[in-house]
Amino acid sequence: MKITAIRTPETYTDLQRCVECDHVFHRPLLRPGETGYCPYCRAKIAKGRDWSFAKICCLACLMLCLMPLAWTLPLIQIRLLGMTISASMLAGVMQMVQQGDIITAAMVCFCIIGTPLALVISILYLFVGQRFGMNLRPVLLALDKLKEWIMFDIYIIGVIVAAIKVKDYADLFAGYGLVAFVSLTLLYILLIIHLDIERLWHKFYPQPRQALAPEEVQCCAYCHHSGLSDQRGRCPRCHIKMSPRIPHSLQKSWAALISSIILLFPANLLPISIIYLNGARQEDTIFSGIVSLASGNIPIAVVVFTASILVPVSKVIVLLALLISIHTKCEQGLKTRIRLFRAVKWIGRWSMLDLFVISLMMSLVDRDQLLAFTMGPAALYFGSAVFLTILSVEWLDSRLLWDAHATGNAEYTD
Ligand SMILES: [Zn+2]
Ligand SMILES: [Zn+2]
Repeated sequence: MKITAIRTPETYTDLQRCVECDHVFHRPLLRPGETGYCPYCRAKIAKGRDWSFAKICCLACLMLCLMPLAWTLPLIQIRLLGMTISASMLAGVMQMVQQGDIITAAMVCFCIIGTPLALVISILYLFVGQRFGMNLRPVLLALDKLKEWIMFDIYIIGVIVAAIKVKDYADLFAGYGLVAFVSLTLLYILLIIHLDIERLWHKFYPQPRQALAPEEVQCCAYCHHSGLSDQRGRCPRCHIKMSPRIPHSLQKSWAALISSIILLFPANLLPISIIYLNGARQEDTIFSGIVSLASGNIPIAVVVFTASILVPVSKVIVLLALLISIHTKCEQGLKTRIRLFRAVKWIGRWSMLDLFVISLMMSLVDRDQLLAFTMGPAALYFGSAVFLTILSVEWLDSRLLWDAHATGNAEYTD
């Protein structure tokens, strides 16, 4: 059930400053299963009490047990030239390393092995750390950032695309690893739905209630705590210096965006994949790869086109428009700009799809001179551009979009 912040005395607790639009409102008291939204910008501000932390830890343990299976067992198998070849997550990454492209391999590894492992270890660290009085603040701060970078859902689509691409050359079978990987992804989705980091902050570092006037309420840009800073100007909860906006937000966002625009040129002009078929070398750029895919399977070609060309290009255009609108103090279309900001935040990760497909294809199709699939130089530029656009959105403080409406009259209405 969805409810927004209701302004009647018995249904709210303390004042809270919205982390997305900077307006102050009363935080509603929520029942289990309810979600609170900011009355001004409709940002999700709180979830009602849901799963206990012990339950979350059990889920994390289960994920930790499944991880080695999902990473090492074959996801798909093919029969090619009388041989059975299998592709696993780890084999795809190792193939990239063997071909000398360690940075691209590290990027793929980061999204499908590094960050999921960090997530479950962080949760287990919190469980152990609370008993021994360890400092949990850095882990809680990191937990909030990790979610953006875990790309199991995208990797599943990658497996499907790779399977359809390979189907032309060989007979295809599902591997045992696929069962482990799909189970792992489902557990991960369950964990993300029920993991409420704000509640964990309340549990480990409860803050005293303060009677404050609305203009006195400050919001921490890192842990999202609303209240007063301590004597040293730090957030009382996460101990990072409190500032009204993310420091150097525009500069960092511009730097990442401009770098990604530069990198998108070689990413699209250079070959991203090279296929050797009976000694003949065929190079494919992102676009020509999609064109050849379209001749066999149009829906999959549309998916790859959306992830590899439409999403990165539209994301760059939207970010440019948002940044320029902040500089020109534009007051029009605030609602549209907020929606665009949330949309680019959500879709940005999907561009990694092409790199996942390449890593799977490399471990599947590697039969030396007869048939081989390798990665082209564009893969590194493309992966870097995707990472930089994700960072650009991450660093852009959405409250800057509202600052042109600082008179307080602006209201985000549906
Ligand atoms: Zn808001
Ligand atoms: Zn804080």
